[in-house]
Amino acid sequence: MAVPTTFEVVHNCGHAITHDLASRSADQRAGYARWLAARKCTDCWRADHHADAASTKEWLAQKRAEEEAAATDWETQFDMPPLEGPETILSWGARSRHQLVTRAYTELVTEGTWDEADWAQLEEQIRRVTRAGWWVDQRDAEGADLPELLDAASDRDRPTENPFR
Ligand SMILES: [Zn+2]
Repeated sequence: MAVPTTFEVVHNCGHAITHDLASRSADQRAGYARWLAARKCTDCWRADHHADAASTKEWLAQKRAEEEAAATDWETQFDMPPLEGPETILSWGARSRHQLVTRAYTELVTEGTWDEADWAQLEEQIRRVTRAGWWVDQRDAEGADLPELLDAASDRDRPTENPFR
């Protein structure tokens, strides 16, 4: 009986593909078939690699667009001033501001002890900080820390009082 030249290989993606291994020497075919079985079939491999690069990029772009739309809606609804700074970080700043303020509202009002009047005061402070870079810098901050962060920001912007006046 001759060693077969075609092998039905069940790849680890689940697809069964008949491979023509005639080009391999008879004593290498079984080993090669096992090697193939531990891998995905060519179609799945290609699809994965194509998907990896393209879909990650697409997914990120899609996520950014959604976050940006949410930030813009929020800015309109709550009358937030546009941010200032280099063009390249304006959108990032806007997304960071919206996300941090949303976290703050959840932690301080929804789950915390603040009432709407407390929040309205904080919102005034939020409106005063329009530097996109500042919001980008605070992007990983805890929502509950926002009041302290805003206090620090407004202290710095306040003109220094002249003690000799
Ligand atoms: Zn497959």
